[in-house]
Amino acid sequence: MDRGRAVDLSGAEIRGDLEDHNPPIYLPRQRAAVPLVALDIGGTLIKLVYTASCGDGEEGGGAELRFAKFERRRLDECFQFVRAEGLLRCNGGRPSEGNISLKATGGGAYKFADDFREKLGVCLDKLDEMDSVVSGANFLLQNIPGAAFTHMNGKRKPVNVSPNNLFPYLLVNIGSGVSVLKVTGNRKFERVTGTHIGGGTMFGLAKLLTGCKSYDEFLQLSQKGDNFVLDLIVKDICGELVCQKQGLSTSTLAASFGKVITSKKKLTDYKPEDLAATLLSAFTYNIAQIAFLVASLLGLQRVFFGGSYIRGHKSTMENISYAIDFWSQSQMQAVFLRHEGYLGALGALMSYGDLSGENITLEESTEKEPLRESASPVDGTSEDEQNDSNIFPYLLVNIGSGVSMIEVIGKGKFERIIGSHLGGGTILGLARLLTGCSSYEEFLELSQKGNNLSVDLTVGDIYGEEGYPKIGLPASTTAASFGKVNSNKLSEYKVEDLAAALLNSFTYNIGQIAYFVANLSGLKRIFFRGAYVCGHEKTMDKISRSLKYWSKGEVQTTFLCHEGFLGTLGAFWSYENMGIDSLAAHEVIREVLLGAPYTGQFPSLPVTEELENGENKTLEEEVESLRRDNFVLKAELERLQRENAELKSKLAGSGEATTL
Ligand code: ADP
Repeated sequence: MDRGRAVDLSGAEIRGDLEDHNPPIYLPRQRAAVPLVALDIGGTLIKLVYTASCGDGEEGGGAELRFAKFERRRLDECFQFVRAEGLLRCNGGRPSEGNISLKATGGGAYKFADDFREKLGVCLDKLDEMDSVVSGANFLLQNIPGAAFTHMNGKRKPVNVSPNNLFPYLLVNIGSGVSVLKVTGNRKFERVTGTHIGGGTMFGLAKLLTGCKSYDEFLQLSQKGDNFVLDLIVKDICGELVCQKQGLSTSTLAASFGKVITSKKKLTDYKPEDLAATLLSAFTYNIAQIAFLVASLLGLQRVFFGGSYIRGHKSTMENISYAIDFWSQSQMQAVFLRHEGYLGALGALMSYGDLSGENITLEESTEKEPLRESASPVDGTSEDEQNDSNIFPYLLVNIGSGVSMIEVIGKGKFERIIGSHLGGGTILGLARLLTGCSSYEEFLELSQKGNNLSVDLTVGDIYGEEGYPKIGLPASTTAASFGKVNSNKLSEYKVEDLAAALLNSFTYNIGQIAYFVANLSGLKRIFFRGAYVCGHEKTMDKISRSLKYWSKGEVQTTFLCHEGFLGTLGAFWSYENMGIDSLAAHEVIREVLLGAPYTGQFPSLPVTEELENGENKTLEEEVESLRRDNFVLKAELERLQRENAELKSKLAGSGEATTL
């Protein structure tokens, strides 16, 4: 019976303007009389794909695929739509007879199955979410000319994908949370990782910070805003002069929301537009960075981005494209899909008529974890075992306002550096805006008393109490930090809960990125230090847990600022002896640029911007701040000396007296 309901894809095409977002897909040979409908009920949105007669309504005129979406919390609107469009005529049954089944995927297919039965009189034929997303992407890429495109430097270009060289590719599906999949063929894929910092996080925080009521309103605000009002950029750290002399882009992002911590402004003093622009760049770059790191780890060059987060929004796509291109030094390309939000629903629709029995059910988990398998286990060498000769190479993760990650291969020898713009400055900046706290210590205190589950969306909230066992996600896993925030009234949330969610989300993100970077560089040790780690046990604890989580217990984390640790090892562990200070500032900056020029890298010097204007600088902080200034001056001096030498030799060459 199902085979009769199959979608006939032959000759499928998109008609109309190439720039249209989610245009209908024309299916010339599809029987129009039998509507088919499939749903993807995600953590935030319900996506619906259905076939409808196109135009004249004649049987021979073919059909088209149409698309609709609803907020998950407004399930009734979805029911009304299904009834109004007559979509239950499929399968020839009557709802009252209870013999209609609809293909459905996403966690809500499990959680809301009873609602569909009771209110719509249909059964949901449940399909695995990841399987559906991959089928949907493969359907578009293999069957629909013009379905994929790049968006770079303001230009949108269609990508013609040859089915012969489509695989393998990386699929980054940005929904409420983010799933990252390695796709190697039709129905062949592995979910390699994911992040809880996704669309739900950005939109949840956007509601609280900007008061916006809809995603479109948020995107519009972001278009009019200026993220430099809140973001700490390289110029703020190095000064314009040094940036110019070193040929650096002054606008390189160092720490999203990093400027908030030195400002006296309250949330209401900021323009919603600027807050929105800051949120969009912060989260978009972070997702792009994770995509880049995973693609690098897996040796993949083509990265497709899906999920409603993108929503055909130009700046979002530009930012992703730029970041991928820059980090990969043009070796990778970000590719987008015109129906990016409907991959799961399309995949579910494709399964009508599928009698192969190949659909992977949740119970048949054969998933591998390539990142973990390819990972060099990062060992937790005990303090006693470490000595001068065996500590290299290692990854040094410095958590200042932003995060710098440095591969140290010997004293004064650095091979790689990358960083994250979501660092301590971001946590404290957001904490100030959301909770009004006045110090990092106060924020940590608040976080201890709070419950992140009042704002974080869990796998259980999406799937129900069984969770999503196929990919090893129990119900308690956070699917999207701040993804449960529905109200745009900040006062409705407890500051303690917001603080708890902030600490969790950003420390886990730093841990994840550090883990990927260590794997990518084949490093067996990770050391953490920095202003937001030293002396803050709660932060250290979260980072340790994060590393444990991402590495599945293989990593133990070492903190260089731990009192006892420093005491044991003495001066050897001082910052200078890690080899950092033997690099001149300009070298550090150059390394920064080569490693991760766009999003949040800055010299790996002790970063204490948040304290610069504060009254409460400790002696240690003061010394660090002076040392940083010293580096900057040293670099400038060196440059002048070089110029001097060049001029001298020119003058000598021209026979003039040198009096410089
Ligand atoms: P899910 O399957 O988890 O619901 P989606 O792919 O539908 O994921 O993406 C949901 C995300 O898309 C949201 O978190 C938000 O960032 C963004 N989004 C796009 N359009 C909307 C909208 N109309 N309402 C809410 N969020 C939207």
